[in-house]
Amino acid sequence: MSAAESGQAAGEAAGAGEAAAAGEAAAAGEAAAAGEAAADCLFCRIAAGSVRATIVHDDDRVMAFRDIAPRAPTHLLIIPRRHIDSALELTEADGPLLGHLFAVAADLARSEGIAAGGYRLVTNIGDRGGQTVHHLHLHLLGGRSLGWPPG
Ligand code: 5GP
Ligand code: ZN
Repeated sequence: MSAAESGQAAGEAAGAGEAAAAGEAAAAGEAAAAGEAAADCLFCRIAAGSVRATIVHDDDRVMAFRDIAPRAPTHLLIIPRRHIDSALELTEADGPLLGHLFAVAADLARSEGIAAGGYRLVTNIGDRGGQTVHHLHLHLLGGRSLGWPPG
């Protein structure tokens, strides 16, 4: 879809209130794209280096570090550097970032030695989804057999 077409589609989809909300969301997205961390966000602070973590991957878009309370022999958290509250906030435009996030996860599974045996990627969304840190992250869990469904 061209930029003009997607602009038109967005215009058709958005009512007056939605347009205002979309404007706010766009402004927030621009702030995040400009590299501004969300206030009081633990993972933004880890990304900025002001809270320490055991970092296992770091590039201009994505970071990964060991979970402070591991639930499996390998338990990594993979985050976009840019603040995104959760997967609920994602849009089509985040496709390249997500591709990179998942590719980093695959590389880490290989380097952790759990790729061949199998592992799990999961992202919790909202309170009932078990999300406690409101900055999008993938949990990479492996090194043991994992039950299904999760609790
Ligand atoms: P959620 O519950 O939001 O899906 O996952 C948040 C994860 O962050 C939890 O597994 C929790 O153990 C981990 N966590 C919380 N605080 C810290 C911290 O200060 N450092 C690290 N490395 N992990 C943390
Ligand atoms: Zn954040």
